[in-house]
Amino acid sequence: MSAFKLAGGKPSSPSSPIPTIVNQAASAMAINLLILAGTIEATLLAKEISDVGVNAVLSYAGRVERVKPQPLPKRIGGFGGVEGLCKYLEASAISHVIDATHPFAIKMSRNAVDACAHLKVPLLALSRPPWVAQKADLWKEVDSIAAAVGLLEMPMRRVMLALGRMHLSEFCAQPQHNYLLRLVDPPAFEISLPYFESIISRGPFTKEGDIALLQKYKIDLLVSKNSGGSGARSKIDAARYLGLPVIMINRPNLNRERKEVQSVSRALNWLFHGDKNLGV
Ligand code: NAP
Repeated sequence: MSAFKLAGGKPSSPSSPIPTIVNQAASAMAINLLILAGTIEATLLAKEISDVGVNAVLSYAGRVERVKPQPLPKRIGGFGGVEGLCKYLEASAISHVIDATHPFAIKMSRNAVDACAHLKVPLLALSRPPWVAQKADLWKEVDSIAAAVGLLEMPMRRVMLALGRMHLSEFCAQPQHNYLLRLVDPPAFEISLPYFESIISRGPFTKEGDIALLQKYKIDLLVSKNSGGSGARSKIDAARYLGLPVIMINRPNLNRERKEVQSVSRALNWLFHGDKNLGV
């Protein structure tokens, strides 16, 4: 059953003159939604939006080579900052924006807040709660990649970097380590780390699979962003199981006010019923 039906599909009551379903259909017709994508949450939302027949487009930065097939039209590439995003929102007559980008995609999220505020387009963030250290976790939390690099000032270790490909060059400052990289696509540029192996895989990953991986490569230490959610947490669970230390990079601060929900059903509720039904 769709999350929308769970969230908003109430049967009409004798006191409602117009059946709820008609109201929903009417509001669906008035909506032209932009989903800022690049996460599993955006994919889940796209499926629900497609099921209820709302006009919507998914936007990707274009970082990965193979975007998963989606049931909605998509556009790929940056908008050109706040100004470019404003132009796009106006030219495409976007009525609502849902920012379902990764919690570390801070530039896009800030631009979305600024552009939507400027044009008074309703904006909602669909986010995921961060991971919280459990008793058996051996985390060292830091606030930046640079700080994670600084903590690697130690003799050679076998270090798994679960960070994507964007910030790998920063680890050249600690060239003594043997790095294991897990990437979605083969890197389009030369990786300048002296010692590394890479695994190209998009997942999904499992705790058991990641325990086997960490053991196979004799990993001593994991470096991870605090992405949150379930899709990427198997490596964290595996590190806990094996008693491995983790350098956990905390999320950057958005420094903007915005409305935020943590489930697709609440996002749909907001889309069809507005802020009063946000439930947050
Ligand atoms: P970012 O630093 O916030 O974005 C840099 C620029 O890329 C933005 O200013 C924007 O360009 C463009 N951009 C980002 N997301 C976009 C989107 N969904 N649609 C159109 N343009 C977008 O973002 P990032 O950290 O590079 O992440 C890029 C994408 O990868 C995001 O969609 C994010 O959800 C996904 N992702 C990121 C991570 C991560 O760890 N950062 C992990 C998994 C997935 P303009 O200013 O020109 O508009």
